[in-house]
Amino acid sequence: MSELACPKCHQPLIRAGRTYKCENNHNYDIAKRGYINLLLNPDKRHNNPGDSKESLIARKAYLDKGYYDPILHEVTHYIQEHAHKEMAILDLGCGEGYYAFKAKQILGDQNRYYALDISKEAINMATRYDQDITWIVGNSKNIPILDHSLDIIMALFTVVNANEIARTLKKDGYMIHVTANKNHLIEIKHLIYDEVHEKSDEFIRQPFPVIESYDFTKKVNINNREDALNLLKMTPHYYHIKKERRSVLDTLEALDITIDLRITVYAPWKQ
Ligand SMILES: [Zn+2]
Repeated sequence: MSELACPKCHQPLIRAGRTYKCENNHNYDIAKRGYINLLLNPDKRHNNPGDSKESLIARKAYLDKGYYDPILHEVTHYIQEHAHKEMAILDLGCGEGYYAFKAKQILGDQNRYYALDISKEAINMATRYDQDITWIVGNSKNIPILDHSLDIIMALFTVVNANEIARTLKKDGYMIHVTANKNHLIEIKHLIYDEVHEKSDEFIRQPFPVIESYDFTKKVNINNREDALNLLKMTPHYYHIKKERRSVLDTLEALDITIDLRITVYAPWKQ
C-alpha cells in the first residue's frame, strides 16, 4: 500500500522494481541511495542559504546531539495520544531527515512514513538514517501524495501550502505545525545583528480549524564551541553576519539559547 501520487497527473504511483510508474506512463526512477525524485521543475527552485551543504551538515551534527529533542517529543507525544493503528505520516520539509527518523523510532514500524524536501542534497543525506522511510525530493506546493490519504502531516519550521495540506489530509487527519516565535534563538540574533527586529508570525497562520495551539519555551545550554557553531550554521542568520562581527565567532565557547515556538494542531476537515 502506498499513498504516492504522480506529480504530473496525480494518479497513483505503482512501484515496479527500481521505478515508480503511473497509469499514464510517467516514470520516476528510484535513486541509488533509495529516494525518489518527484520534483518537476528543479531549476525553478530558489536556493535558500539554509539549504546549503554546509548548513545541512551542521544541522545534522547539531540535531544528532539531541538539543532539539524536546521539540520532537512535543510532536510525537501528541501523535501517540491520538494514535490509531497503521497511520500514514508525512514529514513536510524534512531537511536532512532527523525528525522523520526519530519520529519513526518513537512511533513504531506499523505506520507508513513519508518525508519530503525540495533539496536533493538534504534527501540524499536523509537516506542514511533509515531506508524504510519513503524519502521524496518534491515540492510542498505540489505534494506527490494521493487526495485525502494522510493521517498526519508534521511541519516543523517549514512553509506550508494550505491547499495541499487540505487536499492530502484525510477527513479526520491533522497537521502539527511548529513555527518560531519572536524570541526563538534571540541570543543568536543579538550575537549577529546590531539591531533585532521583531517579526510578526501573522503570515504563517493557516486557515483551518485549530484543535490545539500553545507556546513551547525552553532554555538550552550549549557548552562547547563545535555545537554552538553548528547551531549558528543551521540558521540563516549565520550567512548574514557582517564582516566586523565575525570576530565574535572566533571566541565563541558556549551559548545559552531560548527555544520559543508555537505548536499548532490544525484539522482542515473538522466540522
Ligand atoms: Zn502521471
